[in-house]
Amino acid sequence: MNSATEEGLENMSFYTDGKTMVTEFIDRFDPSEEVIDVEQRFRLTTPDGVPIVGAIDKVVKINDDTIAIIDYKTARNAMTTWDLQDDVQLSMYDFAASLMWPEFKNRLLFLDYVRINKRVSTYRTEEDQETFNEFLNSMWLQMQKLEETEIKGRLNSLCGWCDYKLYCPAYTAFLNAKPTEMTALPDMEDGEFLEHWENVATKKSILENRQRELKLIATKKFMEGQDIEANGKELYSTQASRTNYDIVKVVEIIPQEDLFGLLNVNKARLDRYAKDDPDMKSKLQRIAQVNYNAPVYKTRAVKEDIESEFDSKQNESAA
Ligand code: SF4
Repeated sequence: MNSATEEGLENMSFYTDGKTMVTEFIDRFDPSEEVIDVEQRFRLTTPDGVPIVGAIDKVVKINDDTIAIIDYKTARNAMTTWDLQDDVQLSMYDFAASLMWPEFKNRLLFLDYVRINKRVSTYRTEEDQETFNEFLNSMWLQMQKLEETEIKGRLNSLCGWCDYKLYCPAYTAFLNAKPTEMTALPDMEDGEFLEHWENVATKKSILENRQRELKLIATKKFMEGQDIEANGKELYSTQASRTNYDIVKVVEIIPQEDLFGLLNVNKARLDRYAKDDPDMKSKLQRIAQVNYNAPVYKTRAVKEDIESEFDSKQNESAA
């Protein structure tokens, strides 16, 4: 709760989700685990002279020869073991761990999806490690050859979380951009419409993130008793109040015949209540009423395009 308040978390579902994840994680925790390190930040130079930087969530000793390197994820969908075979983040962990804990010959790599209680594992062979080392060397070589003028950021929905945004010309230019002339929306061709759609989604995400950062600073200043004021304007805050009633006390004072019209069922709590009771779950499924929210629009590649691209690649390789 303290962290949620400090981070200025406005959406209560993040807080309740987080609380459930942490509680369930603690229930699953095995105290006999031999933890070697947690949140280990590394800043190393590979034997070939490439600087690498990162952080590993947890390292656990399995036996005298083997360690498990665990990365926690909060995603709702897990990657497959197949996806993990070429995952660069895990290859980097494996490489860094081989330098930090050379006494362990074997390293198992895990992604632990705490939201869905699923672990997916993989490992890297010596040959994989050698290939990754070559990849690092070639990346480092290319980075060293880069001229500053060649470095162009490509704005995307993750810019708000990017560690380099303060040094990124594309990000700075976007925040300081002035509105330009645009085609009227109803007159846009589909191509322009789709491009504009994706552009707006990206910029919305960047701006929302920026606003969150601004709010954090403002909250901190207000808590320290400072004003934010300039040119005859000031920032001020209002806070809406929310009133709740204790259900037990409400039930005591409202006549029985009126109660059903006044009370709501908390779906999340009811689902948790029935979580380990299949009989109750199927009874609830039979009486559930499903309503649909307003549609959410997203863009994706058209299926025929993917198939025709695949076909043409097949044809090319056959030729
Ligand atoms: S802020 Fe710049 S460097 Fe970071 S992801 Fe966005 S475009 Fe790329």
